Amino acid sequence: MKIPFYLHSLGKEDVDEVMKVIQSPFLSTGQIVHDFEARLAQFTGNEHAVGVMSCTHAIELALRLYNIGPGDEVITTAYTFVATLNAIVHTGARPVLVDVQPETGTLDPAQLESRITPRTRAVIPVHIYGLLCDMAAIRQLALRRELKIIEDAAHCVEGIREGYRPGNLAHAACFSFYATKNLTSGEGGAIAVHDQAEADRLATLALHGMSKSAYKRFQGEFQLWDVEELGMKANMSNIQAALLINQLDRLGVYRQRREAICQAYERGFADLPEVRFQIIPPNAQSARHLFALWLQDGTRRNRLVQQLNATGVGCTVNWPAPHLTSYYQKHFGFKPGDFPHAEQIARGTFSLPLYPGLTDDQVALVIQIVRELIRSGAA
Ligand SMILES: *Cc1c(COP(=O)(O)O)cnc(C)c1O
Repeated sequence: MKIPFYLHSLGKEDVDEVMKVIQSPFLSTGQIVHDFEARLAQFTGNEHAVGVMSCTHAIELALRLYNIGPGDEVITTAYTFVATLNAIVHTGARPVLVDVQPETGTLDPAQLESRITPRTRAVIPVHIYGLLCDMAAIRQLALRRELKIIEDAAHCVEGIREGYRPGNLAHAACFSFYATKNLTSGEGGAIAVHDQAEADRLATLALHGMSKSAYKRFQGEFQLWDVEELGMKANMSNIQAALLINQLDRLGVYRQRREAICQAYERGFADLPEVRFQIIPPNAQSARHLFALWLQDGTRRNRLVQQLNATGVGCTVNWPAPHLTSYYQKHFGFKPGDFPHAEQIARGTFSLPLYPGLTDDQVALVIQIVRELIRSGAA
């Protein structure tokens, strides 16, 4: 591959931090996890954060925190990664979907109210590609209807909109540190909340429901633990936190580089009638996690992605519409045509290389090759 789809930006200082943990006796959840949690909370302007194994776990834990489960409905959008829906289903609740705004691919607040029923307990806005949803509008409606707001901020540690960041206008925000995300430990996630008691309960729910973590037992006098409610096993390890903690200092600089690359792509494709891309509202600063082109004619998409990969430009599809996967059609009765804007984006979307290490020459080459393939009609 001439230009890989993704390369991480981990360096010596991250490796050194991991080595310190490996040379210490404590590999699992311990002090460096708590240090990372404090710094993530500070970075995003939230009171608390709890490190976990993935964003999928984070969303399920946040739902469990609010006692959401069988018989309940949770609203999210039809243009997201299937993890958002899976996390809802894992709790026993039912995923109810709402269509997205065609310009942004994010939850359309105007359509939200019509999906609310007496069973609705929560809404999960998804900050697609790093663009925060219109949280002010969503919050106003959700609070009026007594819904919990849990953000899927898998793409958006560093995004800002009208001065607010992920979690600031929600009850909880869930982050992903999966291999290709802007902040990564290969696998990992976190939940930001505003209340110490909620953070404590999340930590308990993430570790079997045990009343005292191994770390606390290690620190203090021996004390036998109890289990008051059933938890999951999703706690973050010191090794993951060591890999993450120094990246926070570099995220701002990396975001600027991602922004420059995305703006180059936007200029490079602005005149092509065959494609469009997410419009960033003027009051928002996207985390710029993904840059996707949305083909008007989605029937060409898979062939185009194959050709780009064959030419040496790493591309992928984020994502097929989750409600049209076999499982969701079969178990929840979704069908093509249910959410036209989400389906239109999902049919035509493909993501271009985007990471801080990408050079200007590589960006220019990607633009040239993608334009040629689209314009030649070869796809
Ligand atoms: C990556 C991703 C997730 C899941 O993150 P994991 O940490 O892999 O569980 C959830 N939602 C969206 C939108 C994602 O892109």
